[in-house]
Amino acid sequence: MTERSLSDVEYNYKLINERIAEAAEKSGRKREDITFLAATKTVDADVINYAISLGLDHIGENKVQELLSKYEKYDLAHASLQFIGHLQTNKVRQIVDKVDLIQSVDSLKLASEISKQSLKIGKKTDVLVEVNIGREENKSGVVPEQLDELLCQIADLEGISVKGLMSIPPICDNTHKISKYFDNMRNIFIDISSKKLDNISMTILSMGMSADYYEAILEGATMVRVGSSLFGARDYSK
Ligand SMILES: *Cc1c(COP(=O)(O)O)cnc(C)c1O
Repeated sequence: MTERSLSDVEYNYKLINERIAEAAEKSGRKREDITFLAATKTVDADVINYAISLGLDHIGENKVQELLSKYEKYDLAHASLQFIGHLQTNKVRQIVDKVDLIQSVDSLKLASEISKQSLKIGKKTDVLVEVNIGREENKSGVVPEQLDELLCQIADLEGISVKGLMSIPPICDNTHKISKYFDNMRNIFIDISSKKLDNISMTILSMGMSADYYEAILEGATMVRVGSSLFGARDYSK
């Protein structure tokens, strides 16, 4: 990593924080009400740790293998490590002791396995349920119509604790359209909160990435997941 790229990361980090603060204020909240999680796929641990030294305190990986390969190097004394990608049931065991939150639960089978593996190590794992808000085929997440049923089923699992919802809306070329998806998510989030389901807490609404985190906050996101705007374009060749 060159000094040039590190100074870019520093510049980007400050800028993103300012925009988060601005959007938070516009939506009647404070900067502290919004969690800035850095999506760290393809980013070297030393660069991630540099961002942590600037104040970043939440990081998220989306591949089990990559998380494991970097795990020993992250500065986890100063940041929470989360899993944000699609998770296969047979890999749960490898990460359940390492992450503070799994953002991508979308089936009873996966939730049951997380619960089972958590109980084995005497832990209760916090999770978000991922919603496929655009009802896109071949995309992870439960469709909105099936969310209530899934929540009821997983509420009974003793090794997990549902903390909210996560979503990756369809790629949109216009702000109005993407805002509509975020607004739908917020309505679902509020609707579920109001039902006061046992063992289900709705405190985290994770939505918004580099291209649209500002809009997501305006529509109620409490956590944004930002990758390329912070670290630069991803290099998948490494
Ligand atoms: C990569 C990733 C992000 C961030 O994407 P950018 O567009 O680079 O900000 C957010 N969420 C998930 C689940 C990701 O895998």
